[in-house]
Amino acid sequence: MSAPVYLDYAATTPVDPRIAEVMARHLTMDGTYANPASRSHIAGWLAEQAVEGARRQVADLIGADPREIVWTSGATEADNLALIGFMRANRARGRHLVTSIIEHKAIIDTAMALEAEGCEVTWLTPGADGRITPDQLADAMRDDTALVSLMAVNNELGTINDLSALSEVVHARGATFHVDAAQAPGKLPLDVAAMGIDLLSLSAHKAYGPKGIGALYVKRDPDLRIEALIHGGGHERGMRSGTLPTHQIVGMGEAFAQAASEGEADRAHAAALQQRFLDGLEGLEGVHRNTDTRVSVPHIINLAFSGLDGESLLMALRGLAISTGSACNSASVEPSYVLKGIGVPRAQALASLRFSIGRFTTEADIDTAIAELRHAVPALRR
Ligand SMILES: *Cc1c(COP(=O)(O)O)cnc(C)c1O
Repeated sequence: MSAPVYLDYAATTPVDPRIAEVMARHLTMDGTYANPASRSHIAGWLAEQAVEGARRQVADLIGADPREIVWTSGATEADNLALIGFMRANRARGRHLVTSIIEHKAIIDTAMALEAEGCEVTWLTPGADGRITPDQLADAMRDDTALVSLMAVNNELGTINDLSALSEVVHARGATFHVDAAQAPGKLPLDVAAMGIDLLSLSAHKAYGPKGIGALYVKRDPDLRIEALIHGGGHERGMRSGTLPTHQIVGMGEAFAQAASEGEADRAHAAALQQRFLDGLEGLEGVHRNTDTRVSVPHIINLAFSGLDGESLLMALRGLAISTGSACNSASVEPSYVLKGIGVPRAQALASLRFSIGRFTTEADIDTAIAELRHAVPALRR
């Protein structure tokens, strides 16, 4: 049997071979393997140079200064550092945090941990389109609101928040704006200055880089303080200690440089393939779009197949690697909290699958997906 067609790019992407090649040059004796914090020999300086080059590549994609990039192990850690690190360092500003019920678990569980520490959290419910409106955010803001955390692109739906409009509301009340942008690089233009973003979480492995590396953008502002969660050698200006993984970091840098140079082409490719997919499903009964495609990235679409159980459908679609929701939930059979969160009825949520495509998806892959669905859906309904 041939390998299944991979349509789960929102869970993770394969590493671009050009990126893997750059990474491999930063591991072995004949490469740049030294500790980038070693100041006593040239090998260390070379590693530091590689790290700083990557820091600039990441900063450039989001319109930041390299000094505003803090390396982390991924977006999960960046989210933890942003929320916990900010709320702990700014107790005097207030203990109220605003977020939404369809954020990634890295935000939801972290906000719940903060509740246990005595913070108060307002959980916003998005509209059916998966977006938080500036008006509902304005209603939730209080004098003691220190931080607002909302995502750029939802990982299950693909829907995009209007970050510029939301940041205006946050700043009008003197609060700080954090954005989980793990799904955004290469899918959406990002400009932290123009969009008014103070803290931004990033990950490499949703954008053709390696797993296990990410970053938190922390705006340079003397009033914006973050308390470290990981203590040690004082790396990353004291915000995140630990020896920097040079190979991971250059992988992320290269991935973000590619997102800058190829993101536009990737978007056009994804849009054409999504259209081909939806056209190919025309005429198949009872297919409902959970994703509002007017306000979403073309790489992700969430579809319900009415009357079916998503898990059984997943089993029937043997030739496809897809997901019933976010990968983190795939062990449980509860309906996706994101679909529930936008008001999708329980039965429809349980009948839903997420299809996510990317740089290496081909027309033939899409045609395989269409053929499998056109076969399995009516067969399972019988
Ligand atoms: C994948 C993802 C994360 C977690 O990122 P890791 O780098 O895997 O820790 C956080 N938020 C969103 C929206 C994601 O899609």
